[in-house]
Amino acid sequence: MSTETLKKEILRGGQFLVKETKCEDVFTLEDLSEEQKMMRESTKEFVDRELWAHWERFEQKDYAFTEETMRKAGELGLLSVAVPESYGGMGMGFVSTMLVCDYISGATGSFSTAFGAHTGIGTMPITLYGTEEQKQKYVPKLASGEWFGAYCLTEPGAGSDANSGKTKAVLSEDGKHYNISGQKMWISNAGFCSVFIVFARIEDDKNITGFIVENDASNGISLGDEEKKLGIHSSSTRQVFFSETKVPVENMLSERGSGFKIAMNALNVGRIKLAAACLDAQRRIVDEATKYANERIQFKTPIMNFGAIKAKIADMTTNVYVDESASYRAAKNIEDRIAMRLADGNTHQEAELKGVEEYAIECSILKVAVSEHVQQTTDEGVQIFGGMGFSADTPMESAWRDARIARIYEGTNEINRMLAVGMLVKKAMKGHVDLLGPATAVGEELMGIPSFDTPDFSELFAEEKDLLKRVKKVFLMVAGSAVQKFGAKLEEHQQLMMAASDILIQAYLAESAILRTEKNAKRFGEKAQDTQIAMSKLYLYRATEIVIQKGKEAIVSFTEGDEQRMMLMGLKRFTKYTNNPNVIALRIQIADKVAADNGYTFD
Ligand SMILES: Cc1cc2nc3c(=O)[nH]c(=O)nc-3n(C[C@H](O)[C@H](O)[C@H](O)COP(=O)(O)OP(=O)(O)OC[C@H]3O[C@@H](n4cnc5c(N)ncnc54)[C@H](O)[C@@H]3O)c2cc1C
Repeated sequence: MSTETLKKEILRGGQFLVKETKCEDVFTLEDLSEEQKMMRESTKEFVDRELWAHWERFEQKDYAFTEETMRKAGELGLLSVAVPESYGGMGMGFVSTMLVCDYISGATGSFSTAFGAHTGIGTMPITLYGTEEQKQKYVPKLASGEWFGAYCLTEPGAGSDANSGKTKAVLSEDGKHYNISGQKMWISNAGFCSVFIVFARIEDDKNITGFIVENDASNGISLGDEEKKLGIHSSSTRQVFFSETKVPVENMLSERGSGFKIAMNALNVGRIKLAAACLDAQRRIVDEATKYANERIQFKTPIMNFGAIKAKIADMTTNVYVDESASYRAAKNIEDRIAMRLADGNTHQEAELKGVEEYAIECSILKVAVSEHVQQTTDEGVQIFGGMGFSADTPMESAWRDARIARIYEGTNEINRMLAVGMLVKKAMKGHVDLLGPATAVGEELMGIPSFDTPDFSELFAEEKDLLKRVKKVFLMVAGSAVQKFGAKLEEHQQLMMAASDILIQAYLAESAILRTEKNAKRFGEKAQDTQIAMSKLYLYRATEIVIQKGKEAIVSFTEGDEQRMMLMGLKRFTKYTNNPNVIALRIQIADKVAADNGYTFD
């Protein structure tokens, strides 16, 4: 495909809101190549054999076992999927990288955290920003699992405000090295890593600088005790202290003062991969909960036969399906964007960086949505297990605790919610996404008389797609008016930003599921997709309810009088169904299929 054709077809990040996406243009799990399917199978086999079979050891804080298993993953090549071939990696595309992150998460959050910290934030800053010498020296060892990486950004006084760290890097008199001193905390893999990516400030620079620091106790590096954590018990998390640690000048990453940019770009990739790492974790919960509900007898019948349990199974299954749809849709957009940039003559580094940065909005959306879904899913998993769900002898208990961290690291969900809207507004200001035109059109529509024609909703998803278009208008109406009213000061209205973000998130997720199902219904037939159709409809209903609630909160917070009445009427009009879906029937339909299959069978 020519670069020009690709450019035309791939929507820019955030454009999903104002441009229609055809179902043929979204990538779905059903589009995986044979090679990708094989990769998925070998990851699953690894998880069943090396992780799931030993999940109790992960619960017993067996850090050495995590390290040993990471080495086995390295031997199988699982740590090198994203690494270019020239540095000992497999050089596979972004979708394949996502696949491995996804399926490696199926047994325990401890391992997927160790895996993500090493392959993502522990290795990526070098592959993306390193010099040729740095890459040759470090990346092959990291890709093979001979060495492990860790990422030292957070400090006791610098968490979400990541650029405010106090760690110092002082140039030696002979100009040959920096002396790094400071305290980092919450460092994943600290207990067994060989290389740290460390962010420190040189003199009084506005921005921090990144360094590659080899772990050597004789060079002023010491570790705090393992943190006592709520979950991910076998993921090593420790403080790291640097005291006059000598780092050769050639170990600086990119340029002086570019550390904050490196840290943020590493996190963009980290965010979408974290979403992936919450997928198979959820599938496993659905599988276990389904098996349990099919077997557990109360009142002389399997509890699966109770509507209350069916509702849970249906919502949990729908979460996974929708999350898969959105995650792989965005992953392929990133992969295509990278390919387009490579074809335009960008280096691998530039192409990867810009490709991911383009979809930073989607990365934040996915991080928030999927991390919250994994929590809902595990919570209902515990509930289905009843008292046994509260017992540490069942995997539900640990899954519930492990899920909690996903809302905190890689940027908290509050920060990511605000980033998603903030970045979109910035893109609009720069002219990268035309929000102003569509927002003005929505404003005009509000003043006009609504059409009283009876629409033809006979085709699959005709009504849902019409509703989706209108749900997007709610975002344009709310965010457009808020930007007009507050301008750059919008950032100070966090609750409004969060509400707008929720509308944005729901629009992206609901649309992704509908497009995936529509594409599959066209090629495999509607009958073959009847459960997926039900899940897409159920999710859109749930999404619309959130949009109504958040839209109202937002509108009332900054409008009054006629303007408020008009916008509330708009909200009602934009979120109205002509034919209300029977969500109870949809949930029964979904749960019956999952019960019959004894687990999740839609991936
Ligand atoms: C198990 C674990 C592993 C980790 N691994 C690593 C690692 O490998 N490397 C690393 O560098 N870090 C790591 N972290 C740190 C993690 O990234 C931070 O905990 C996270 O960024 C939040 O920072 P904080 O804990 O200081 O919370 P704070 O920033 O103090 O936030 C506290 C609360 O305030 C909210 N808040 C903060 N600022 C704002 C704002 N401007 N507006 C609205 N709300 C705000 C937050 O959303 C949060 O709810 C890890 C943390 C944990 C718990």
